[in-house]
Amino acid sequence: MAYVICPKHGGSGVYMLCPHVLRDFFAGDSFACYHVTTNEFLVPKIELCADCRTEWMKLQSEDEIDDFLDRIGPVCGRCFREKQVIELT
Ligand SMILES: [Zn+2]
Ligand SMILES: [Zn+2]
Repeated sequence: MAYVICPKHGGSGVYMLCPHVLRDFFAGDSFACYHVTTNEFLVPKIELCADCRTEWMKLQSEDEIDDFLDRIGPVCGRCFREKQVIELT
């Protein structure tokens, strides 16, 4: 499990966000994302915007999946849960 040191919460588990959800996460108190489960051991769950979700669903090879996962970043799980998450479906 990935881990971050949060200035507010100290060490914490993380949520993994695509760059666009990450931008919205830091921009305000609420943000929208899709909760996506993966088959990856290290990142069983990721939070994606609509475009990245579409891209994710088209990925085929392990290499493509690895490249994609390299682009998403961790945020403190407790900060994540303090914000208002609009779950897209
Ligand atoms: Zn995105
Ligand atoms: Zn935090």
